[in-house]
Amino acid sequence: MHAFDDFPGLVTTEESLAPWVWFRLGGPAAYFASPRRLDELVALLKRCREQGIAFKILGGGSNVLVRDEGLDALVVHLESPFFADVQVRDQIVEAGAAVPLTALISHSARAGLAGLEVLTGIPGTVGGALRGNAGGRQGAIGQFVRRATVLDPAHEIQVRDRDDLSFADRASNLDDPVILSAEFELEPEEPEAVVRRMRRIWIIKKENQPYGHQFSGCIFKNPSTDVSAGALIDQAGLKGTRFGGAEVSDRHANFIIAHPGAKAADVLQLIDRIRQRVWQQFGYELELQIQVW
Ligand SMILES: Cc1cc2nc3c(=O)[nH]c(=O)nc-3n(C[C@H](O)[C@H](O)[C@H](O)COP(=O)(O)OP(=O)(O)OC[C@H]3O[C@@H](n4cnc5c(N)ncnc54)[C@H](O)[C@@H]3O)c2cc1C
Repeated sequence: MHAFDDFPGLVTTEESLAPWVWFRLGGPAAYFASPRRLDELVALLKRCREQGIAFKILGGGSNVLVRDEGLDALVVHLESPFFADVQVRDQIVEAGAAVPLTALISHSARAGLAGLEVLTGIPGTVGGALRGNAGGRQGAIGQFVRRATVLDPAHEIQVRDRDDLSFADRASNLDDPVILSAEFELEPEEPEAVVRRMRRIWIIKKENQPYGHQFSGCIFKNPSTDVSAGALIDQAGLKGTRFGGAEVSDRHANFIIAHPGAKAADVLQLIDRIRQRVWQQFGYELELQIQVW
């Protein structure tokens, strides 16, 4: 008997999270579910509240490192078609939380709507990207948001308008338990011109990222707009530093590569070592961008 016994076929137990996250590392979730509709999602969250069970929402898993011991929680994976719809009307694109950023960008470009192509090459879903205001030097997702629909802590649907929302460097005030969907307001432009920009951004992105291994996105936030975490780690001579199966990427020092056999503990130890060294050498306290579960 377990807390979700009456959700047959929906909740699994001791599910390994490694296949669901980009690092391909980490232990199991005590409970795991991919709700097919909103009512199932709400029912799961209500059960969590009744039973005092923690929960986490998982999107594309590109910004999460799961500890080796796993989580004593329900991990809710948003991926079903119900949460992955995209609609375009006039200059507005409405997308569910589970829509992959690649799909959001290509739908918009095909409809002759420009703006979101600045996110080209960033993996993950609309929900995860909004939570952390994903972006880069060219811009970030938050600047295009017109409104977001969320589930609040009382499991009620709330629409949060632009005036209610704030986005900062890899951060937002969208801290409601679940982001369900968002509307983006874009500028009309020839689809070919948007696609050309996408290609240019993609090439730059590929040149600056590791490839062929398991990794997540940037591990640390930049200390400020002028100071990049990657440059500090590089100047500290840490590129190529290894701990167990985890290694600071040679191509971009703010990425950690997990070699076959690596443990999440290796990545965490390497993170500690980087932080210590950057603090000692430059006096910057690096803050994590990646979420550690
Ligand atoms: C190769 C690579 C390159 C990257 N480059 C960039 C980059 O250039 N710029 C950048 O900003 N990021 C970058 N990232 C990080 C990552 O892509 C973004 O943070 C991303 O959009 C996260 O989306 P996700 O769906 O994978 O989120 P996840 O990793 O699944 O989750 C991240 C966080 O968001 C929360 N979350 C997810 N969905 C929801 C939801 N529906 N409601 C509430 N909370 C939710 C999770 O609980 C978690 O706290 C990169 C990652 C990789 C692997």
